Amino acid sequence: MGHNAPPDTGARGIAFEDRLTKDVGNRVISKLGSLGHSAVNCTPSRAYSVIDSLRRRVRTGNAQNLDYYVSIHFNAFNGRANGTEVFAISNTGRRIAQPVLDNIVSLGFVNRRVKNGSHLYVLRHTNMPAILIECCFLDSRRDMDLFNSEDMANAIVKGLTGQTPPGAATARFNVPQEEATLGEISTGVTLAAFQAVPEQEELDNTTLELQKALNTLKITGSEDQVLPEDGILDSNTKAAISKFNEIVDLGDFGAAGVATWNALAEILEKPILRVNHADGC
Ligand SMILES: [Zn+2]
Repeated sequence: MGHNAPPDTGARGIAFEDRLTKDVGNRVISKLGSLGHSAVNCTPSRAYSVIDSLRRRVRTGNAQNLDYYVSIHFNAFNGRANGTEVFAISNTGRRIAQPVLDNIVSLGFVNRRVKNGSHLYVLRHTNMPAILIECCFLDSRRDMDLFNSEDMANAIVKGLTGQTPPGAATARFNVPQEEATLGEISTGVTLAAFQAVPEQEELDNTTLELQKALNTLKITGSEDQVLPEDGILDSNTKAAISKFNEIVDLGDFGAAGVATWNALAEILEKPILRVNHADGC
């Protein structure tokens, strides 16, 4: 499940992304289990930062023998956009993504197609074919009226495995309408591929992660140059943070607060929806 690891919390609209991804993700995991597949929940329960949260889930996935990695999200935009899109990078990823998309669309959601996810951290850094599902828009009345976590989970499982989960046609549960949840669940279904990832230093890499993120976004420092990725919070790095904060309307502070991290994550993890950008990739 995407997010669910503060300060990595998801989007908010008519519903909360953290709660929806957790609800759908838990159902997907148990349904895969009941069909004889093993699924690993890669969602960390805590993180130092959003980037750290992304890194942890990737590390968990990469340390297992996984056939593929599935990241579950809900979209948010302007209240009017709606529908389902699935991101992938490789051709193998796209072949996994397409039937998942088709099954979700068959529930009545608008088909926003399989899209190129080469800007998405969890797709870029996992070693197995990976997809990121934007189930539907949590700020769209149309989508939220149509949405049901049980049906969504069944569609995802059918898309991934070709198998219909037991009881798929009948069971229906609506997501309870309260508490924002923290915690587990995500993604990853097992069988074969693999790569060991060395346990890395857990210590504070915040500045380094920030520099990398700013470089990815091509936000330069005071000299208009790429930031050195040295983990040192110097005046150049502060200038870049300040530029970024300004761009996303957080004021021009040269410090990265929770809002800064959330904005970075939102941008790094999600495509920027552009009106008139209808062509998928
Ligand atoms: Zn998300």
